[in-house]
Amino acid sequence: MIGSGNILAAGAVALVALLGVGPPGGGVSAGFHADRVPVSHPEDPAPGPDPVENPRPVVYLTFDDGPHPVYTPQVLEVLASHEVKATFFVVGDMVRRWPEAARQIVEEGHSIQSHAWNHDTLTAFSRKEFIRDMNRTQTELLYATKTQATCLRPPYGATSSRVEKWANELGLTVELWDVSGSDWTDISAGGIARRVIRRVAPGSVVLLHDGGGPRSRTVSALEVIIPALLEEDYRFGLLCRPNPLSVEPAVCAFALAWPRVGTCDRYWQQEVQ
Ligand SMILES: [Zn+2]
Repeated sequence: MIGSGNILAAGAVALVALLGVGPPGGGVSAGFHADRVPVSHPEDPAPGPDPVENPRPVVYLTFDDGPHPVYTPQVLEVLASHEVKATFFVVGDMVRRWPEAARQIVEEGHSIQSHAWNHDTLTAFSRKEFIRDMNRTQTELLYATKTQATCLRPPYGATSSRVEKWANELGLTVELWDVSGSDWTDISAGGIARRVIRRVAPGSVVLLHDGGGPRSRTVSALEVIIPALLEEDYRFGLLCRPNPLSVEPAVCAFALAWPRVGTCDRYWQQEVQ
């Protein structure tokens, strides 16, 4: 048992090194952060794969609290019907429950990012709790989608310099929003749409939800929001491109071979003690 434990730990270290979960250096995440467009730089047209010299204003649709087995596919259907891309900040435990929906997000070309493991208030966490939460979510994303997040949206937008520092140490950039559809309130679909359309400016990051409750109104609002913004000549950008595994399939085969709450969790615990 002790011998196999050592092997497991060594394997987990190798996996972590390959996945780039730890401090940068593996080269896996290089370049991906350059693609994020913080709210503070609204004119940045997102270098990288997006057309750099595209003169059209950009807007970023983001969806939190999923994936959800019903509403995520509905959101994806609306996005696909308009050939629009978006960013999904997913809850790790929901990815565990609904991996197919998480996979669909990635397969359809959207960005999947971290919204923490169980929607906890991260500012209340110790460093150890924070690292465990982040790594557990990254591991679940790996299982489901073979990608990792490069950005973190803290639940409730509750962040601090401490949270941002810890996130950066794990290769994650904190991303918030500047336009909220307030779709978690009892506002109507029309109300959600009006709020968003009225408040969007070039470079805006729009907060909507595809999970965490009934989201039919959000889906209906999206049918209004997207055509209205296209009419204003907006293009829809991807925030924080996900970090695909450059070393798959070998690493994925390795990772999938372990029990779900196995070596990784054990390694994370060792690492932060
Ligand atoms: Zn949330």
